[in-house]
Amino acid sequence: MRKLPDYAANVPFYLLVSIQCRGACRARRWAKLVAAPPGVPVRTGLPHPGYVAHCLQCGYVATDNEAWVSP
Ligand SMILES: [Zn+2]
Repeated sequence: MRKLPDYAANVPFYLLVSIQCRGACRARRWAKLVAAPPGVPVRTGLPHPGYVAHCLQCGYVATDNEAWVSP
């Protein structure tokens, strides 16, 4: 298993995604999935429209699910 940074360590593994943060970070960051399309299990079908994730560093709300990567 990949070593996660401290800021992501207390988030359930199945909710983590790596995103391109366009908020304050302007870098790749771990984010927490907070919404998934109805009827689509959180970990199935990435990338998929309808996902929402919050950057764990700056709180940026990502909805584009562009190049999201599961741990
Ligand atoms: Zn961020």
